[in-house]
Amino acid sequence: MQPGQLIVITGPSGVGKGTLVRHLLTRFPNLYLSVSATTRPPRPGEIEGEDYYFLDRPSFEEKMAAGEFLESAEYAGNYYGTPQSAIAAQLATGQTVILEIELEGARQVCQSFPEARRIFILPPSFEELERRLRGRGKDAETAIARRLERAQEELAASEEFPDQIVNDDLETALDAIEKIIFSR
Ligand code: 5GP
Repeated sequence: MQPGQLIVITGPSGVGKGTLVRHLLTRFPNLYLSVSATTRPPRPGEIEGEDYYFLDRPSFEEKMAAGEFLESAEYAGNYYGTPQSAIAAQLATGQTVILEIELEGARQVCQSFPEARRIFILPPSFEELERRLRGRGKDAETAIARRLERAQEELAASEEFPDQIVNDDLETALDAIEKIIFSR
């Protein structure tokens, strides 16, 4: 059996990666979305094992040291990582796997999976990104400031990614992602 395709979706926090991925899974329920681990505390409504595996720092560091993550990064004061074993198992069965991760992690995946398709999601403008980050009302002001600072660095790296999509109109962005995923 042909191994499955690995798709990495990256871009700054607030750009709408999560919304795009959710809609993508509704359009194509057969896609497998990796559930990440994080040391960030759950936001209201987030579910363990569905949104993230929520870990304390020592547990995360233990898993990291044991090589359990395909990639991991520290982002705005918290660790995030992609559990390796679930991905390997899905790819082995020919499944297309989606990772929704930040820049450092996307770079790491590029090293270990050079054949992965890497898509960078851009906001229509920096002002719009700021508006979206504040508008979703999920984070404290200090967290928003850290995310905006990090967003500048992430946007500066967008050229590293062969496929870039501006998330202005949701349907247009979804169509563009769909084209990339199914163009193998
Ligand atoms: P949030 O705290 O808003 O859920 O996520 C913050 C950032 O971490 C987002 O850009 C998100 O895509 C990214 N992220 C989520 N899971 C992972 C992961 O497993 N690895 C890495 N490197 N980034 C992740």
